[in-house]
Amino acid sequence: MTDLVWFRNDLRTADNPALTAATRSGAAVRACYLLTPGQWREHHWSPARVQLVVDHLNALGRALADLGIELHIIRADRFDDSIASLKKFCAQRAIRRVHFNEEYGVNERRRDKQLATDLGKTGVEVHKYRDQCAAPVGEILTGQGRPYSVFTPFARRWREWLQQHPPQIHPVPKPVAKPLPAPPPISSLEDWAPAPPALVATGETAAHQQLERFLDERVMDYKRDRDLPALEATSRISPYLANGVLSGRQCLVAALQLAHNAGDGGACWVNELAWRDFYIHVLYHFPRVSMNRAFKPETEALVWNRPGQAFEAWKAGQTGLPIVDAAMRQLNQTGWMHNRLRMVAAMYLTKNLFIDWRLGESYFMEQLADGFLASNNGGWQWSASTGTDAAPYFRVFNPVSQSERFDPEGRFIRRFVPELSGLDNKAIHQPWRSGSLPNGYPAPLVDLKDSRKEAIARFQALKEGM
Ligand code: FAD
Repeated sequence: MTDLVWFRNDLRTADNPALTAATRSGAAVRACYLLTPGQWREHHWSPARVQLVVDHLNALGRALADLGIELHIIRADRFDDSIASLKKFCAQRAIRRVHFNEEYGVNERRRDKQLATDLGKTGVEVHKYRDQCAAPVGEILTGQGRPYSVFTPFARRWREWLQQHPPQIHPVPKPVAKPLPAPPPISSLEDWAPAPPALVATGETAAHQQLERFLDERVMDYKRDRDLPALEATSRISPYLANGVLSGRQCLVAALQLAHNAGDGGACWVNELAWRDFYIHVLYHFPRVSMNRAFKPETEALVWNRPGQAFEAWKAGQTGLPIVDAAMRQLNQTGWMHNRLRMVAAMYLTKNLFIDWRLGESYFMEQLADGFLASNNGGWQWSASTGTDAAPYFRVFNPVSQSERFDPEGRFIRRFVPELSGLDNKAIHQPWRSGSLPNGYPAPLVDLKDSRKEAIARFQALKEGM
């Protein structure tokens, strides 16, 4: 009898419920991962994310070999192929039980349901585990048993629930057999564009080191500094969390262990983990958000501007607004963007350029190493005022004020928009005011005041038409 662990968005050996269950079953254990480039393309995975997954799979293969578990890499292209490939694999290897951790996108849920039915017919049991959140989906509900659609009451209930059910961390399982030779590494995938230099070091040990370093050295100042993009004031663990190299539970437990000396910074950071759980819960309870639909259905009637040249300029970091351009160039060059700037760049696209949030959402996914459907969709719909708990449509960030407030000396702008580095700390936020634009830097695409007014009017008209 052999058990199979199907790794998906959980590329780790520690605190992995599916792996723990399989290794406790007493049966022989194998593991697999399905490479599905066709599906990744449909879901706009970036080269940075694909490279990160390949690197972490190589590390995972070695870690599993030490536990006596062989990791089989199966090439399946798309979801439909996944089911056939897994059925074939189970038949060939006499697999009797398949274990995996749940994923919450609509396609993933459909696939898993179909797989359970198909494998059930051949006598293979399917066991699934709730893994992605610190507080599992389905647990955080209102007094009436409904899902929350506003963050603050969700977070209150989330904290209460976690106090009543402190998360249990599964240690790395004991070896189930003699160590195996390390598997041959997977090379980078053919026909993916080259990735930017790796954003984070590979493997679980490196991920834990990065988390611990942040909690030891920077979390104390997190509340004060987290909005300043020129500093490295946030944890930058999102690429690990998005691909399951770290679990949300591990991060929460590590932060709570430090709570006695992390002060406000620790509490503020835990609140960000609550945002992550919130958006996963939203994805689970309101599947329409993973089908390109707005959380607020009435906003589907908005008529967005045609993307055209303005969208191309936004993508390239050539809008003429230095803070937006610096943000977009950080994204394009590194595969990551600071959270404050994700909000600024998203709000500028959706409110000042009035371009559909879905286009921005896809473009972020195409660039981010930490691209994660729940958080990306949540962040975009928040910025576009179409989502849960979204920014009210009349509260439109002024990117110049954001720039002056969060990058007062223009240090971040100078790093990514070097053609402006000669401007003083005042002019760098709005160079068009200084008479001539330096070094071919473009003039602003739109007037901020007029475009803001126009966006509010369009939302207002929508409201009045209801
Ligand atoms: P820290 O500040 O150290 O926070 C720790 C962890 O908490 C993060 O790694 C992340 O997992 C979680 N977190 C922090 N802020 C948020 C938030 N606002 N929403 C949800 N989770 C959060 N995050 C992604 O992981 N993937 C995405 O694709 C993504 N797209 C976004 C798009 C937009 C438009 C916006 C506004 C936000 C998006 N975020 C996304 C959330 C956030 O910007 C990143 O998680 C954060 O910048 C990652 O940096 P960090 O690890 O240093 O975060």
